[in-house]
Amino acid sequence: MNNDVEKLWELQTVLTQLNDRERQLTTKPDAFAAVDREWQAANEEMTKLDQQIETSSKERRRVDGELADQQELLKKYQGQLMQVKNQQQYAAAWKEIDSTRKHVKELEDSELKTMTDIEGLQKQLDDQGAGSAALKERWDAEHDKWQHSLGDLRSEAEALRTRAESLEASLPERLQREFQRILKQRQGVAVVKVANDSCSACRTRVRPALYQQLKRGELVYCEGCHRILYLEPTQ
Ligand SMILES: [Zn+2]
Repeated sequence: MNNDVEKLWELQTVLTQLNDRERQLTTKPDAFAAVDREWQAANEEMTKLDQQIETSSKERRRVDGELADQQELLKKYQGQLMQVKNQQQYAAAWKEIDSTRKHVKELEDSELKTMTDIEGLQKQLDDQGAGSAALKERWDAEHDKWQHSLGDLRSEAEALRTRAESLEASLPERLQREFQRILKQRQGVAVVKVANDSCSACRTRVRPALYQQLKRGELVYCEGCHRILYLEPTQ
């Protein structure tokens, strides 16, 4: 029995290490996460600028079209001015010309403003693009470093998994099932060490009678959390 409890404890230790490696495999390291956040933010900023340029360009095309229509209209009124027959018609034609000219001027101003806006946005986008080249280099470097470290982690995890499988296979089936049952119910921890005469997981004190059983190497459950208790041989 003693041997089985030792094996159960080792199996627990291996599984805890394996969990740790698996967590590391799916977690971005801090150094990469930091540069990745910067990179995402820079990309978002560039996408936003792109969209603003697109919106402004659309507005520019719209104003351009309206400007062409108004200029056409202005030509028509100017032509009519040549054909007026009296003062009244002259005044009316002039009124149209005047208001159309005003409209044309407004559209020209608006177009000029939009063009200035686009230039400014494009400049921001170019600056951002130049800055992001250096950022991309840092991103690549940190990403490579991370991927490299994953290789070691993967082989460590693989070795731990193999070790866990062979340990588990060496246990009697009843204990395998027992271990798996507690593991599922107790957040991946089925076996816990006894420290200061108590369960190190839930702090429940181990009664002297149970303590004696533990010392004899028997399978003992914590009376608090019902995990399997492990007493280090040196104690
Ligand atoms: Zn406990």
